[in-house]
Amino acid sequence: MSGGACSHIEAIESVKPPKKHVCDECVKIGGQWVHLRTCQKCGGTHCCDSSPNRHATKHAKATSHPVIASAEPGERWLYCYPDDAFAEY
Ligand SMILES: [Zn+2]
Ligand SMILES: [Zn+2]
Ligand SMILES: [Zn+2]
Repeated sequence: MSGGACSHIEAIESVKPPKKHVCDECVKIGGQWVHLRTCQKCGGTHCCDSSPNRHATKHAKATSHPVIASAEPGERWLYCYPDDAFAEY
């Protein structure tokens, strides 16, 4: 990964795509989401901060999994929570 945004993003060799284009947590509770993000540690897909339940941020805080990728078609970027770092790929 080029750019040197942070050590977490640099450590990613291949970006995990979403397994399914749904929020893993919203489907359990019948929630709605706006955009989806995929955790680069465990591969779970969760909803963004524009969504009512903000599961991606909740997941990152609860698990300390640092990096998410956008799961939206055509978007190619990574975000690291602890470093507040953003990188396109
Ligand atoms: Zn980082
Ligand atoms: Zn959700
Ligand atoms: Zn995770």
